[in-house]
Amino acid sequence: MDQIIVEDLQVYAYHGVYQQENENGQNFYVSVILDTDTRTAGMADDLALSTNYGVVCRFLHTFLTEHTYKLIETAAERTAEALLLQFPRIRQVTLEIKKPEAPITVPFGSVSVKIVRGWRRAYIACGSNIGDREAHLRAAEDALSSDKKCRMLRASEWMESTPYGGVEQADYLNGVFALETLYTPEELLEKLHEIEKAEARERKERWGPRTLDLDILLYEGCVMHTKRLTIPHRDMCNRDFVLVPLAQIAPYERHPVVGKAVIELLEEVGNSGEKHVLYE
Ligand code: ATP
Ligand code: CA
Ligand code: CA
Repeated sequence: MDQIIVEDLQVYAYHGVYQQENENGQNFYVSVILDTDTRTAGMADDLALSTNYGVVCRFLHTFLTEHTYKLIETAAERTAEALLLQFPRIRQVTLEIKKPEAPITVPFGSVSVKIVRGWRRAYIACGSNIGDREAHLRAAEDALSSDKKCRMLRASEWMESTPYGGVEQADYLNGVFALETLYTPEELLEKLHEIEKAEARERKERWGPRTLDLDILLYEGCVMHTKRLTIPHRDMCNRDFVLVPLAQIAPYERHPVVGKAVIELLEEVGNSGEKHVLYE
C-alpha cells in the first residue's frame, strides 16, 4: 500500500513516570508511516482526496501535548488509535515516539517505542433460535455498527437453518457480518460476548438453544489456536448455515489454512459432503 511518512515531529510534552517529567516536560520526536491509497489524489492532484499531512502533524502535536501519560507505550497506543479514528483514509499506522531526554542514568542516544496498528477485516457469524430471532440479530448488527472501533461493511441476508450438534431445539436464524475493526481478536471476542450478554444469552450447553450466538469466522489473515479462541472458526468449513451467508457477502475471501475461497468451501459442503477437520 502507498505511504505518507512524517519523521521526527518535535513535541514538547509531559509524559513520564516521574513527577519532575510531568511538571517540567521534555522533547519527544514522533515519526509516523500512514498506509493509505494515494493514487486517486495523485492522479487528480487534489488534496481533498488525500490525508493532509499538515493536519496530521498538528493533530499529533495537539494530542500529545493535551494528554499526559506515564508510559510512551500508552502515548503511542492512544495516539495511533486517535489517528485511525480521526482520518478515515488511513488503513494502518506505524508510529514511533522517541524520548531522547528520558531520565536514564547512563549515556544513551535515544529510546523509543514503535507500534503498528490498523483496521483489520473480520467476518462474524450470528445465530439465534430463542424469542424474536430477527430482533436479536438486528441488535447485534446495531451494537457493532455503533461501536467506534468497528466499521460495518456488509451484512448478509438472514437465513433459516435446522439445528446443528444433536440437541433438540427450534430452528435458527443465521447471518454473517463483514466489518473492519481496531480490536485485536481477543478484544473482539470480548466485545461479542458483551453483545450476547445484552441479549440475555445464557451459557449452558454447547450447541444448545440461545438468544444470540456470535462467532469470529475469519480475522484478516490470522491463524491462531488458544484456549479461548480459534481463528479461523474451527468448524466453519462444515457449516452451510455459515458458508451460505458468508458466500453472499464475500464469495472470494480465502480461508487462510485450507487455502480455498468461500464459494469453493460451500460447493464442497453442498456437493460432496467432504469435511475438513482443522483442530481437534
Ligand atoms: P461453536 O464454536 O462450535 O459454534 P458455540 O458457538 O455454541 O459452538 P459457545 O458456547 O458460544 O460455543 O462458545 C464457547 C467458547 O468458544 C467461547 O467462550 C470462546 O472462548 C470459544 N471460541 C473459540 N474460538 C472461537 C471463535 N472463533 N469465535 C467465538 N468463540 C470462540
Ligand atoms: Ca457458534
Ligand atoms: Ca459461540
